[in-house]
Amino acid sequence: MSRLTIGYLYKDDLNLYGDNGNVEVLTARCARRDIECEVLLINKGKLSSYNRLSEVNLLFMGGGPDSSQKSIYGDFLEEKKPFVRDYLLSGKTGLFVCGSYQLMGDYYRAADGAELKGLGLFKAHTIHFGKNKPRCIGNVRAKINSELSSDPVFKNVGFLGDEIIGFENHGGRTYLDEGAAPFAHVTYGHGNNSEDGTEGIVVGNCIGTYFHGPILAKNPHLADYLIAKALNVIELPKLNDLLTTASYAASKKLR
Ligand code: GLN
Repeated sequence: MSRLTIGYLYKDDLNLYGDNGNVEVLTARCARRDIECEVLLINKGKLSSYNRLSEVNLLFMGGGPDSSQKSIYGDFLEEKKPFVRDYLLSGKTGLFVCGSYQLMGDYYRAADGAELKGLGLFKAHTIHFGKNKPRCIGNVRAKINSELSSDPVFKNVGFLGDEIIGFENHGGRTYLDEGAAPFAHVTYGHGNNSEDGTEGIVVGNCIGTYFHGPILAKNPHLADYLIAKALNVIELPKLNDLLTTASYAASKKLR
């Protein structure tokens, strides 16, 4: 089985609620299967300084406060957009959590009204309505959209079913464009905007989501799905997931 090369964008800037744990879960689930896994850190600066980006087959970017988003969005737009655009359009696998999900959309209007232009690769926009509107905070659960859950790869690795669990904390409310496919539909909690029942977005094999937790620690079946898609394989060797299965079941009862 080929190697998983994770391109990890802005690790030190966008790591709210332990989102870097997602990369640790991917690395661990590969190691337990003797699948080689390497993490390439992609920070601010010219992409020309990174000579192995073509090897990246799983792109990850975490969440962060408005201040962190403001500090990286210019670099994300000016230096990283060509790579991320070509990467997404070529059907490669990616996971963008919360603040980075927002910046993959058309724009993020921050709490102070500043409008951060996004990459426009996710057909959506996000508005933070300021301090007068409560943040979307708490445990959250959602059913993955049927197109994704009926993917034969998901059927082979999705040993915990099609519901995902997590934790959310965002002021921004994301509105999908007409025709954009949500990642999931909320069964408990807020999701994209606490209004239309959608959570996240799927574009190609890239997922945007509001789930922290970290999402892949709480949903190891989703981690396996991303690994399988990234490696372009139909299934993965089974692991002893007794503990993760028990923790998933317990977390589903959280209110
Ligand atoms: N700062 C953004 C918001 O408040 C994203 C927060 C996050 O990444 N958890 O919506």
